[in-house]
Amino acid sequence: APLRTERRRVLLKLSGEVFGGGSVGVNPDVVSGVAKQIASVVSRVEVSIVVGGGNFFRGAELSSRGMDRTRADYMGMLGTVMNCLALQDFLEQAGVDTRVQTAIPMSQVAETYIPRRAIRHMEKDRVVIFGAGAGMPYFSTDTVAAQRALEIHADEVLIAKNGVDGVYSDDPRTNPDAVKLDSITYQEALVRGLKVVDATAFSLCMDNGQRMRVFGMEGEDNLARAIAGEQIGTIVTA
Ligand code: UDP
Repeated sequence: APLRTERRRVLLKLSGEVFGGGSVGVNPDVVSGVAKQIASVVSRVEVSIVVGGGNFFRGAELSSRGMDRTRADYMGMLGTVMNCLALQDFLEQAGVDTRVQTAIPMSQVAETYIPRRAIRHMEKDRVVIFGAGAGMPYFSTDTVAAQRALEIHADEVLIAKNGVDGVYSDDPRTNPDAVKLDSITYQEALVRGLKVVDATAFSLCMDNGQRMRVFGMEGEDNLARAIAGEQIGTIVTA
């Protein structure tokens, strides 16, 4: 029977930084907090999540220190899967049904990425956690977030950031005069060279009319609020 409701559907991007709480590996307290916020809104919103892996490995970084880039990128992708399993565990502890789907098949650990099945899971109130990026070197999980959002027909792609609460007119770490913007177009963000989200992700969303919200994880319930549709952070549109 068709279960399709008119609920809001979001694709959330959580970077590896969120999982590590600033250091290498997984910080269970931080992941538990993230899971509880997601659990608080999941009955009202269909949620899928693309998970980063920078708390373990970043391909570009390893390659700058002498590793073959593509092999290093695969290490990066495998790192994201560990974050997926941590998030899955804490979501299940918070009473949320979940499925992990990976772009690289690993059948003992997770389902393989099947977009139509992912949609079906969300319709059944399951949170779908996407791991292993796109399965392709030279991509970032920001770009994967944009692609998955398009493929599963998300209303919004939500980019959760640490240490910054939206898109600024310039890099706030280097320019003290940078101001936070409530909204910006992809074109503007690209022209200004704003790196808060990868250029490839911006351009993929721009070309396909996908809405994006960039917001900060800091602040009471910010994650739950963004998922629920509150207009925090910065909205990016075509
Ligand atoms: N990665 C990749 N292809 C993808 C997604 C990720 O090669 O489709 C690799 C890449 O090396 C990247 C690493 O996985 O540096 C971790 O992902 P990312 O840097 O996007 O994680 P985040 O910065 O969000 O923690």
